[in-house]
Amino acid sequence: MQNVVIIGSGCAGLTAAIYAARANLKPLVLEGHEPGGQLSLTTHVENFPGFPEGIMGPELIENMKRQAARFGAEFKSDAVTEADLRERPFQVTAGGITYTTKTLIVASGASARLLGLPGERELIGRGVSTCATCDGYFFRGKPIAVVGGGDSAMEEANFLSRYASRVHLVHRRNEFRASKIMIDRAKGNPKVEFVTPYTVEEILSPQGLVSGVKLRHVETKETRQIGLEGVFVAIGHNPNSTVFKGQLDMDANGYLVARHGSMSNIPGVFIAGDVQDHRYRQAVTAAGSGCMAAIDAEKFLEQHHHAQAHS
Ligand code: NAP
Repeated sequence: MQNVVIIGSGCAGLTAAIYAARANLKPLVLEGHEPGGQLSLTTHVENFPGFPEGIMGPELIENMKRQAARFGAEFKSDAVTEADLRERPFQVTAGGITYTTKTLIVASGASARLLGLPGERELIGRGVSTCATCDGYFFRGKPIAVVGGGDSAMEEANFLSRYASRVHLVHRRNEFRASKIMIDRAKGNPKVEFVTPYTVEEILSPQGLVSGVKLRHVETKETRQIGLEGVFVAIGHNPNSTVFKGQLDMDANGYLVARHGSMSNIPGVFIAGDVQDHRYRQAVTAAGSGCMAAIDAEKFLEQHHHAQAHS
């Protein structure tokens, strides 16, 4: 029987592990299919407080993991395939093993959608990015593309125009999913050029760094190339919440709903990080919410233990 099982090993899960381990709860972290979460897919992180010169995303994550392990957190590299939260203790299955736990912290994150092009994932940190706030600064004075037609794409195009020399907004339709005000703002931005209806057929990177994109016009099928140094993929995120369907409250897009800090609709189940956050999505906010979930789990265990002692 575990005191705390933590699902996810990104910033939120590992911060929860540090706090739970320091509270002597010996948390078990189920690392999932993207160990380290989205930080492990980035290069320089320059906005995490405490690192004036910046730090590499994978190194930051490795440090957090070591910090949690030092206080007694345990790690299993499996992904959760089943969760039974109908009664306490809860049961969680990962890698064919079923774990029983008094409390559960769900920090399973959200995965940025990629275009699915060959080499795209390998080019993350080499010109391809899924996070404008994280990486915009590296493209000062350089031409870039933003791919997508939703609010994220519009917002990122505007944000990135502060740095980039030119922003090509590439979208597969002439109509946009984004709200009118966001579209108008992007259209009114002299640095943003709308390139529609085009799909990205290839990300060009002859030297291992992004040097351009090959686009195909959706109607005429004609192709064209644009030379640029960055491709920001802004086609949405998928929260990793499928195994909790029907058990934990979620919004229409599958994001878990946290109330009063990290509380879920099931007492003893706490939620943290990007699986419940489609607004801020920052390493530091994920870390903060992981801390909250661990403190909430610790308080819950104290109260529950107290109640048991008196029953
Ligand atoms: P979204 O609204 O789901 O838009 C995704 C966009 O990516 C769509 O334009 C879609 O094209 C395109 N797309 C999806 N898969 C693609 C693929 N494989 N290849 C090419 N294009 C693809 O996602 P989002 O923009 O991240 O927004 C998510 C939610 O957050 C929305 O509710 C949004 O309003 C909200 N949000 C709000 C703000 C704000 O108000 N400040 C900022 C950001 C996000 P199609 O349209 O052709 O399907």
